[in-house]
Amino acid sequence: MLIKLTGGTVYDPMHGINGEVRDIYIQDGRITDPPNDMPIHQVYSLNNKIVMAGAIDIHSHIGGGNVNIARTLLPEDHWANPLPHTELLRAGSGHIIPSTFATGYRYAEMGYTAVFEPAVLPMNARQAHMEMGDIPLIDKGGYALLGNDDYGLRMLAANKDQKAFNDYVAWILRASQCLGIKVVNPGGINAFKFNQRRLHLDEPGPYYGVTPRQILLRLARALHELDVPHPLHVHGCNLGVPGNLETTLSTIEGIAGLPMHLAHIQFHSYGAEGDRKFSSGAAQIAEAVNRNPNITVDVGQILFGQTVTVSSDSMQQYANHLHAYPKKWAFVDIECDAGCGIVPFKYLDKNFVNALQWTIGLEIFLLVDDPWRVFLTTDHPNGAPFVSYPHLIRLLMDRSFRNDMLATIHPDAARASTLGAITREYSLYEIAVMTRAGAAKLLGLSDRGHLGIGAAADITVYTKQEDKEKMFSKPDYVFKDGELIVRNGEIIKVTWGTTHVVRPEFDNSIEKELSNYFDRYLPMKLGNFKIHDEEMIYFGQGHIQVHPCRERNSS
Ligand SMILES: [Zn+2]
Repeated sequence: MLIKLTGGTVYDPMHGINGEVRDIYIQDGRITDPPNDMPIHQVYSLNNKIVMAGAIDIHSHIGGGNVNIARTLLPEDHWANPLPHTELLRAGSGHIIPSTFATGYRYAEMGYTAVFEPAVLPMNARQAHMEMGDIPLIDKGGYALLGNDDYGLRMLAANKDQKAFNDYVAWILRASQCLGIKVVNPGGINAFKFNQRRLHLDEPGPYYGVTPRQILLRLARALHELDVPHPLHVHGCNLGVPGNLETTLSTIEGIAGLPMHLAHIQFHSYGAEGDRKFSSGAAQIAEAVNRNPNITVDVGQILFGQTVTVSSDSMQQYANHLHAYPKKWAFVDIECDAGCGIVPFKYLDKNFVNALQWTIGLEIFLLVDDPWRVFLTTDHPNGAPFVSYPHLIRLLMDRSFRNDMLATIHPDAARASTLGAITREYSLYEIAVMTRAGAAKLLGLSDRGHLGIGAAADITVYTKQEDKEKMFSKPDYVFKDGELIVRNGEIIKVTWGTTHVVRPEFDNSIEKELSNYFDRYLPMKLGNFKIHDEEMIYFGQGHIQVHPCRERNSS
């Protein structure tokens, strides 16, 4: 079937198209050349409408142990937000931590067509993928957690050569069916298990004697040498701690120019100045990002209201549990692979710290010059539920709205912030970079995030509106792989997305030593740890797309 989208105003930054009226043709799920004589089966007239690729969220907790534990911990989120089934849609529940089906529906209704889960414990990857396999409509992918895993730390403590470490990293990517590697509080989660409450960037861990900086360098180098497109995805040391700005700057400067993505940077951009010993480090962080082209960031914006923090950083979550609202929390460890801490939280606009956190995130968005290197996230659900993205986009695009909001927060926080003086307003082109083209480029998804010939036909169409929150809340049309799934903000068809993975080459002889380790220390055999493609395909519902690693020696 041939579909024509005609008369729409196209924003396609991968091809430098900035608001040009163009026609787009779709055939067999892909964007295709204008046909010669073929009959066109469907035409959509898109005059006065905005056309972009489907949006991509590079960091959102949508599947896996921590998400599930958060759901279990918060039955009130289900009771307050029931979603009855319809003829088309499955029942579900939840607003701050929605059920799997609701996750897919809500993302697709906002024009998102791919979402990436940043905390896949390799030991728990099967469960994470099965859970994500139940999320309809959107594509998925995961970043496997390393850097606190007992086996990897043993390798580093024994000073194994980089080649052997690279093989281990590549093996983990393959076994856990992931697209990238994430490190959370490098070495800190392991240190917490030895009853330590803080681990600084250059402090040797209590048992293995490896410093967080060594872990970061080894992992970043491994991914670089393996030519994995997505750089090391880093949740740094000292998340949320006043004064952590210095640690973050040192992390950026100390990665030796290797590519590195810093996740939810807002939580790592705090000074310790002023009466309350809490201040914005946004200007220094943004300046460091601007100066270091090897660095990308996502913001992890907080927005006010009830949410739940889910993190592998059990060290930091333990410190935060005293602030839990409601007063309950949960911690889990799985086979010394990583950590998991769940703490419900309510961000208040009249609380000085929360209000300043809100301004810090927005300052970073607006002070990082290059939209290709800063990404729109709330670290769902940590900073806010993902359904608040249209509100966040309006804050970035509409200065007078932003200043109206600024006038409502804790007055000392508003006074302490430079936000009111920042005049920048994001353009539609820049939003398309940050939420589509840049995201696809950073993840190595060459056929997503753009509208060129051959790209997957993941396309979102909005009506031009002054109120950008309204505009981005309710697309007119969303096409997923060429099929119309959303019309006027409502799901009209349910399809199943793809799981994106990478598979760098490695020397499989490492399995011998790994197998011994599994037999000696772990509850499952190495053969059971590895997830096979048939499991991912899941009765024909799922798909896998393997993305190439970069050609060696290319940039
Ligand atoms: Zn996160």
